[in-house]
Amino acid sequence: MGAQLLFEYTCPECGSGTVRTTRVQNYKTKIKGYPFIVDEGFIGICDHCKAEHFTPKETKRWENLFYRSLKKTSGFFLFRRKTEIEWIKNLRNQRIASGTSF
Ligand SMILES: [Zn+2]
Repeated sequence: MGAQLLFEYTCPECGSGTVRTTRVQNYKTKIKGYPFIVDEGFIGICDHCKAEHFTPKETKRWENLFYRSLKKTSGFFLFRRKTEIEWIKNLRNQRIASGTSF
């Protein structure tokens, strides 16, 4: 994978630095107000004032990663809930079988 030259322009924040494409591992960001860590993100960082710049393409990619991780998590919770319901059902059946009343 070659370095993506997304930035490399004069920083609009300070006017004297250059925004350089920087690969950041475990970049902490917020998607729709939710904290999210991007495994590997490409952002532009000014070599003078350290201002961070983003491309719509990259933030869109992060959003997709975020939604994918949400799907994974909700799938996990659904699975857990299902097994919990089964467990409660079994417990109830056992109690009925043994004649214990609630
Ligand atoms: Zn700057």
